[in-house]
Amino acid sequence: MEQYEKDIISIIVPCFNEQESIPLFYKEFNKVTASLKEKVLFEFIFIDDGSKDNTMEEIYKLSDIDDRVHYISFSRNFGKEAAIYAGLKKSTGDYVVMMDADLQDPPALLPEMYNYVKNEDYDSVATRRVTRKGEPPIRSFFARLFYKLMNCISQTDMVDGARDYRLMSRKFVNAILEMSEYNRFSKGLFGWVGFNTKWIEFENVERVAGETKWSFWSLFRYSLEGIVAFSTFPLTLSSFFGLFSCILALVFMIFIIVKRLILGDPVAGWASTVSIVLMIGGIQLMCIGILGMYLSKTYLETKKRPIFIVSKTNIDNEDKS
Ligand code: UDP
Ligand code: MG
Repeated sequence: MEQYEKDIISIIVPCFNEQESIPLFYKEFNKVTASLKEKVLFEFIFIDDGSKDNTMEEIYKLSDIDDRVHYISFSRNFGKEAAIYAGLKKSTGDYVVMMDADLQDPPALLPEMYNYVKNEDYDSVATRRVTRKGEPPIRSFFARLFYKLMNCISQTDMVDGARDYRLMSRKFVNAILEMSEYNRFSKGLFGWVGFNTKWIEFENVERVAGETKWSFWSLFRYSLEGIVAFSTFPLTLSSFFGLFSCILALVFMIFIIVKRLILGDPVAGWASTVSIVLMIGGIQLMCIGILGMYLSKTYLETKKRPIFIVSKTNIDNEDKS
C-alpha cells in the first residue's frame, strides 16, 4: 500500500544575500536528487532573512516556474537560527532537511540520508565535515577549541565539524519545535532532543558564490551564546573563584599574623597589597560579568518577543495563535 504514497521531504534553505547562489542551488539540487523523484515529493521553503540584494527576485523567479517552491521573507535580518525555526514551523513534510543556499551542504548526499531514515531505525541523519579546507587556520583552531570546551562543560553532545545539514523525521522536528526559546543554538538543540542520529562524514566544500556571513567576532559571539545556552559551568566556576580567593586570603592572613608575632616584622610592601586588591577586584568584576551574561539571556527570554517577523510569504498555513 505504501508503494503508492510518496513521502514528502521539506527542504529548508535559509538565504541571506544569496542572489548568485539560489539559481545554482536549485539547478544542482534537481540534478542530483533526480533518482529520488520516484519515491518522494519535495517541498522547498526558501527563507529570505532580510536580504539586501536580489535574493527575493531570484526566489520569485523559481516560485513562478515551480509550485513546489515556497518562501518566507523576514521583515529584517533575524539570523540563520531564526530562519531555521521559521522553516521548521512552516514545513509540512514527513521529513525535513535544512540546507545552506551556497551548496556547502552537498545535495548529492540526500539519497543516502533518506535511505537511513526510511529503511533503518534512525530519526535523523546529520552531517559533519571532516576537513576544514579553505577556512582560515585560526578559525579552525578556535572552532576545535570551542567543541572541546563545550563537550567538557555541557551535558549536551556537540560534534566537532557538525553542519546544520540534517534530515529529520516529523517526530524529531516536532521535538525541536517544542523548544520555542528565543536564544536558539541549533547545534545544541539537535543534540538535546536525543533520538537515534546517524552521522555522515564528508569533505568540506567551498561556497559556490557570494561570501560567508561569519566574521571572526560574530563566530566568537555565537560560541558564547552556545556556552550560555547549554552550560551553567561558568556560574560554578565563578563561585569556585570566590572560594579559592577566600582560602588564599585566609592563608595569607595567618602567615602575616604568625610572621608578626614571631619576628616582630611590621607589615611592609604596599605594592603587593595593591596587586592583591586589583586581582580580587578583577575576579569580582569577571564573576559579575558571567552572572550578567546569564541574566541578560533570561531577560530576553522573559520578554517573549517573536523569533522572526514575516513580511511576505506564499504559505497560507498561518498559525492562528
Ligand atoms: N544565513 C542566514 N542568515 C544570516 C546568515 C546566514 O540565513 O544572518 C544563511 C546563508 O544565506 C547561508 C547559510 O545561512 O545559506 C550559511 O551561511 P554561511 O555560508 O555564511 O555560513 P558558513 O557556511 O560559512 O558557516
Ligand atoms: Mg556557507
